Amino acid sequence: MPCHEYLGVFWKAWIRIQDAEESLLPTPTFHFTVDCREPGYHVYHMTLTVAGLPAGKHTLTLPVWTPGAYEVQDFARHVFNMHVEMDEKPLEVYHLGKSQWGFDTYGESQVTVRYQVYADELGVDTSHLDQSHAYFNGAQLFFLVDDYKDQPYDVLIQAPPGWHVSTGLDVVEGNPFHYRARDYDILIDSPAEIGTHRVLTFTVDQKPHHIAIWGHGNEDAEKLTHDVEAIVQAQRDLFGGLPYDHYTFILHLSDRGTGGLEHLNSTTCGTGRFAYRPRKKYRHVLQLISHEFFHLWNVKRIHPEMLGPFDYNREVYTHLLWAMEGFTDYFATLTLRYAELFNTKEYLDNLADNIKAYEKKPGRLVQSLAESSFDTWIKLYKPDADSPNRTISYYLKGDLVGTCLDLEIRRRTNRQYGLDEVLRRLYDRYGAHGIGFPESVYQETVEEVAGSSFEEFFQAYINGTTPVPFETFLGYAGLRLERSYKNPNADDDDTKDKKTTGQPLPWLGVDIGTGDHQTLVVKVSYTSGPAADKLNPGDQLLAINGYQVKTEEDLKDRITLDHAIGDTIEVSYFRRGRLETVSLVLGTAPPDEVKILPEENATEDQKALYEAWLRAPWKPEETAQ
Ligand SMILES: [Zn+2]
Repeated sequence: MPCHEYLGVFWKAWIRIQDAEESLLPTPTFHFTVDCREPGYHVYHMTLTVAGLPAGKHTLTLPVWTPGAYEVQDFARHVFNMHVEMDEKPLEVYHLGKSQWGFDTYGESQVTVRYQVYADELGVDTSHLDQSHAYFNGAQLFFLVDDYKDQPYDVLIQAPPGWHVSTGLDVVEGNPFHYRARDYDILIDSPAEIGTHRVLTFTVDQKPHHIAIWGHGNEDAEKLTHDVEAIVQAQRDLFGGLPYDHYTFILHLSDRGTGGLEHLNSTTCGTGRFAYRPRKKYRHVLQLISHEFFHLWNVKRIHPEMLGPFDYNREVYTHLLWAMEGFTDYFATLTLRYAELFNTKEYLDNLADNIKAYEKKPGRLVQSLAESSFDTWIKLYKPDADSPNRTISYYLKGDLVGTCLDLEIRRRTNRQYGLDEVLRRLYDRYGAHGIGFPESVYQETVEEVAGSSFEEFFQAYINGTTPVPFETFLGYAGLRLERSYKNPNADDDDTKDKKTTGQPLPWLGVDIGTGDHQTLVVKVSYTSGPAADKLNPGDQLLAINGYQVKTEEDLKDRITLDHAIGDTIEVSYFRRGRLETVSLVLGTAPPDEVKILPEENATEDQKALYEAWLRAPWKPEETAQ
């Protein structure tokens, strides 16, 4: 036995002695009451009762962020009327910092903390309370006392008559308003939906799954239940089991999509109320739900060391969000394909749209995936008008690099393994045991699965900004890319072929939006375009060559119909209220459409890789439409 192993044995024995001594001390117990019986004021009345708290100085700390949303939000800004009592007598409370309060106790005691939290922010990572429901995230409501993170936390919910609760927390003694979290992390990880919402239920592997729906729209409950069940089954098959006792999908239907947030055995997804039809919109709903569900493995269990257990008081940094979020996007859509909820055309069209979006962003040549992950706190979550020029999303590029990595592993292993094998090994070795992995383990596991080095791949596409050569990777599966432009001269009754052209179009190099009084306003000025150092975000476009342009369509027509690449035009605009005119030379537009098409002469190897990857027969005619 090497000497460090001797040390390990002694260390463990010493910890056991310490644990035994500590277990002689009384352990405090923690009970929260969440009172949402005055919803019209948007105020949660909170009570925290701590029994058995030892004498001394104590702190109450509220998280500044919530896991999954990498943004410091300073939730304590909504807290007011903080009071602490010891054995029913008021104690002095002192404010220690923006999210921290302190108090002193004398002798072992029962302490009651009362405070109120304003909650009128409808989002998946925020809390909302009104006459229609109560929804909360733990990071906004639950204070941590000292460092008691490993104790169980009880939560009693007091709600208006007729309201019920849906949450990932375990119910206590059959009381549908009494819940218990094993520790503080689970408490923070378990949002709750409370109200008169509908609950759809299905079972997979004898485990109950609930879909709690707040709000109404054009959803089809039966179809939704069927589709969500198919997602659960497809992802269960990928990992070989479901690592929870029950799972809750909280679905918010409102006038806007609010995204999704993942948890260990629940998720909240916010969609537009009318996002369930037509199919074009519904595909995004399926992708959102599939993404958040896949997270129960990827990021909630399979994650780098920094992403759990969490430090809730400050930003936590990792270079791996492309694997946590981008690969989750990749598998979200791939498992929709495996569940037969997406056909191959839908799958490949979605991939082609992502390639188009990636290739339009100059930021892909500036920021690497690793940097994009690390800087998420100050860049992805705090975008500005110039973000497309300086940054790249680890969702978008991470998804695409996941596609390429999967195809590369499949090619090198003669289709024996894919990227899913990397995730399974990380899950078996780390995720299933509740531990995070060192960051270098990701590349090592890819190399172990593929049996060869991926140093070049990681340096180029993950740690570097080399443009991703999609043709090469898609070629392994017998697929090619075609980029085309909308034919500006096409007639309404022209065939589909005539509506597009392979001929590149002239481009002003800006994205336009509508400002006050229907004015045309520059939203983005691309560094890859001719207006990069001439037009700024916020400029109000007025005229081309002295003639007024009134709509975005008008502008596009004037440029594409009356000019060619290389023409010089004069653009007039208001900047901060002053009329300006500038000359610029029209550049080449990025393609309007990117398509993924089958190679005419695909080999048997290419076809076999396609079939193993998409779990569908080689069907050129389906993808050729
Ligand atoms: Zn995500």
